Amino acid sequence: MIDLRSDTVTKPTKGMLEAMFSAEVGDDVFESDPTVNKLQECVAEMFGMQAALYCPSGTMTNQIALRVATRPQDEVICDKRSHIYLYEGGGMAYNSMLSPKLLDGDRGRLTADLVANNINDPADIHLPRTRLVGLENTMNKGGGCIYDINEIRKIKKVCEQNGLWLHLDGARLFNALVETQEKPSEYGVLFDSISICFSKGLGAPMGSVLLGSNETIREAKRVRKVLGGGMRQVGYLAAACLYALDHHVDRLQEDHARAKVLGQAMAEKSFVKEVLPVETNIVIAELEGVSPQELLKSLEASGLSAVPFGPAAIRFVTHLGFDDNQLDEAVVILKNS
Ligand SMILES: *Cc1c(COP(=O)(O)O)cnc(C)c1O
Repeated sequence: MIDLRSDTVTKPTKGMLEAMFSAEVGDDVFESDPTVNKLQECVAEMFGMQAALYCPSGTMTNQIALRVATRPQDEVICDKRSHIYLYEGGGMAYNSMLSPKLLDGDRGRLTADLVANNINDPADIHLPRTRLVGLENTMNKGGGCIYDINEIRKIKKVCEQNGLWLHLDGARLFNALVETQEKPSEYGVLFDSISICFSKGLGAPMGSVLLGSNETIREAKRVRKVLGGGMRQVGYLAAACLYALDHHVDRLQEDHARAKVLGQAMAEKSFVKEVLPVETNIVIAELEGVSPQELLKSLEASGLSAVPFGPAAIRFVTHLGFDDNQLDEAVVILKNS
């Protein structure tokens, strides 16, 4: 079975497993796991940010950032397709008593003007206090599209002028960086907090890192604890993340090249209305004349799995478990479907 449901389906490579087996570990709640400390220091330095915190999932790092940055009743500006709104179980309301101001950006990407036009008057007590702007790069629901960093710089300026916290859901930020050749440090200066996932394209079995100032990360540790995310000898897993940083970043370009081929194969099908422009490792195809469930069932019978993405679309995600041989097979399956 060729599994393109998500880039989370990868299994650790042999090299990664060896790195995990030989990790030096300690009790991370006491901050004495040397491998976790190394990962946190390494990622913080890479982004030019003061501190980092290793957490079980990207949902947790996003939710912690929201909690640390806000007070109950505050409002969060984000796109209507964003993970923090759509795919975290209503967490911003449940964990932090926040409401979202949902904007409709270009395939999920906000602009400085959109943000500026949606900040509530802080003097009006009827209105929730606008407190945080959440961006996502790459944008999953926008087909893995990439932000123009100059637009982010403009958004940053609006945030500074209005005292707003700028958070990045960078679950797939490295996918963006290998395409644009921008440096992590260019992102570090723009955001108050950044969440990075290692369990997506980077191929680790678990884990995300939250980046921020020393003060932010000190508070983040309290929130991680209350969410049940304080972990012990978790250096075995942090070792997989360190390995991924060394071995699995540059190769993301291969995933992008393969995704483009899949996108072209899909675009030729009569049951495909539109394929969102393929910029990274995500291919979203809008369908016509066939439901996602029908199409997925027949693809699955031929050995290819993907997921439904909304009422009339399916999504493929390429990853390090998907090589050129499988790509050839997948293209044949699509041709014959
Ligand atoms: C996967 C993902 C996350 C985090 O998901 P977890 O499964 O909780 O690690 C956050 N944001 C985006 C855009 C994602 O794709």
